[in-house]
Amino acid sequence: MAQVSTPTRADAERLDAQDPLAGARERFSLPPGLIYLDGNSLGALPVGVADRVASVVTAEWGTGLIGSWNSAGWIGLHRSVGAKIGRLIGAQEGEVVAADSTSVNLFKLLVAAHRMRPDRRVILTEHGNFPTDGYIIDSVARMCGLEVLRVEPEGVLPAVGATRSEDIAVVVLTHVDYRTGRMHDLPAVTRAAQSAGALMLWDLAHSVGAVPVDLTGAGADLAVGCSYKYLNGGPGAPAFAFVARRLQDELDQPLTGWLGHQAPFALEPTYRPAVGIDRAQCGTPPVLSLAALDAALDAFDGVSMRELRAKSLSLTELFIALVDARLGSYGVELASPRDGGHRGSQVSVRHPHAYEIVQALIARGVVGDFRAPDLARFGFAPLYLRHFDVWDAVEHLLAVVAGEEFRRPEHGVRSAVT
Ligand SMILES: *Cc1c(COP(=O)(O)O)cnc(C)c1O
Repeated sequence: MAQVSTPTRADAERLDAQDPLAGARERFSLPPGLIYLDGNSLGALPVGVADRVASVVTAEWGTGLIGSWNSAGWIGLHRSVGAKIGRLIGAQEGEVVAADSTSVNLFKLLVAAHRMRPDRRVILTEHGNFPTDGYIIDSVARMCGLEVLRVEPEGVLPAVGATRSEDIAVVVLTHVDYRTGRMHDLPAVTRAAQSAGALMLWDLAHSVGAVPVDLTGAGADLAVGCSYKYLNGGPGAPAFAFVARRLQDELDQPLTGWLGHQAPFALEPTYRPAVGIDRAQCGTPPVLSLAALDAALDAFDGVSMRELRAKSLSLTELFIALVDARLGSYGVELASPRDGGHRGSQVSVRHPHAYEIVQALIARGVVGDFRAPDLARFGFAPLYLRHFDVWDAVEHLLAVVAGEEFRRPEHGVRSAVT
């Protein structure tokens, strides 16, 4: 097929010259020469983080010692960091807490959702969700005597409208699919779940910091998400939990640790949940990690989510156009939605040697990742990627595939983390 308009590198540079977010790259410390397309798995290091962590360690911990819980505000970090995240997902003040891992938060909110709909027996979710979500859902179902109904992503809306919908306690979905980047219509699905009388629980792991989310506008109930991906909070950064204010008094979450208590330092023998979002907390927060995340979130200061989305779409569209034009004849197939309205900030391609292709790209300084069985996945973090990085990445991909570089034995060696 004749291509009249394959974008050139000069076209990519022109897009960069017009990019209102171009300056945001300086907020990150990136290794020179590397094209990092894995910010959806572990975000890059924002410049303020190292100094902040150093000062929390040496000044606040080393010198302030236990007094820093009060004087350095450690005891309120889960809330202030939660509020910073809340601004990126359209939450109100006091609706987001930074705590625990996404898996743990999912467990807490799922059990709490069941306790708010005690007469309903079904958790509705989708096939192909991120494994941890599926594992937690199955365990909660076993623990609470519920049934899990799994449908294809396109089957969610029909299922909530179907006859058994009065038995659905909670619908739990990941907004942007980790494999393909396919994005659910969050407001529409939320409305449908709620009109069936169910609660809606969103996993925003691959959305937050990459696509605009308006939880207040959507009238959302519950959400969880991850902060080491597009929020750049660092490896193992605390996750977050969102509970709409109107549900907070009802929230009866199962991990009744002392920091979710109304008066932790009264040391009472019985649990009384804190008023507000604090009841979503459990035990003592990881202060060093919270401080790193707090500093990392400053990279979003003054960033318009509309501009962020426009840049993300522009990067993924360029990648798709180049893969179509230059790699189509080498058996590299697009596995992500072509329609930008249904796509998050990542693009995956399918190839029988996806693992080896990703390894060969890494050897060339282009970092993406492999998702079994046959996907090479590329995340486009709009704050620090340039259009010409995308162009160069496809040039490398072409060299790896067309030159069959992926067949070199060293690219077939498997590591523990892919
Ligand atoms: C990354 C991710 C998680 C991570 O869970 P952790 O408990 O923080 O390891 C959970 N769910 C989804 C959909 C993810 O993409």
